[in-house]
Amino acid sequence: MAFAQTKEDISGKISLISTQARGDIDDNDVIKNNVPYGISSKILLKIAKKGTPLVKLGNGNLKVMLVAGIHGNELPPQIGLLKLVERLRNSKLNGTVYIIPFAAPLATRNNSRWLDGLDLNRAGLNEGSVTYDLLKSIQELEVDAVADFHSTKIGSNPGRESVFCTKNPCGESFEIGQFITKRTSSELICYNAAGKMYNGALEDECNIRGIPAVTCEVVSENGQITPGSTEKSLMQMESYLKYFKIID
Ligand SMILES: [Zn+2]
Repeated sequence: MAFAQTKEDISGKISLISTQARGDIDDNDVIKNNVPYGISSKILLKIAKKGTPLVKLGNGNLKVMLVAGIHGNELPPQIGLLKLVERLRNSKLNGTVYIIPFAAPLATRNNSRWLDGLDLNRAGLNEGSVTYDLLKSIQELEVDAVADFHSTKIGSNPGRESVFCTKNPCGESFEIGQFITKRTSSELICYNAAGKMYNGALEDECNIRGIPAVTCEVVSENGQITPGSTEKSLMQMESYLKYFKIID
């Protein structure tokens, strides 16, 4: 039986994990001009004025989380996750998918890497930071794996389409990294131990806690959306879900 999508269908799947980084994302013209058409994006932008929105899709035992916007000026993955919500929200999923399209709506609104002078991808141990709250939610929800999506400009670090992973203490991080890089044009960047290179990074802090995590990067100018970058980010996201057989 077919039935019309209502506002409630998606609203009921969204909660807030933190209110401190709320922001009006509509003020960022680049985001505004690239938001996909659909009720869920509209609602997510509205809810982001109150805090960091978390979307829950599916209802299976295996729970994974996809995050973007830890760096507010890295726009392709944030648009990518809005598109992913649109694509998945009426699909059958073999698992639970948590999606955070804007980790720090205020940083996205400001089109800035920083939030109150803080690099949120080094702030996992700073009590009171959005990253700290995010890690807390990941543990409370008993999420099984996390992927953090970024973009990088040419000439910066890493400056190329890639997937970061580590082998210790969570070997599955490496397996996920291998899986995604074999199916996309991304390069594998693997470190031996989590937390050594990037202390306080979401990926590292998850791996240290035994929750396998990777960081995916696509190439785009900061604060802009380089043509094709959102699609590359989406390919990484879908490939990530395929690793877990959550989608075919
Ligand atoms: Zn980043």
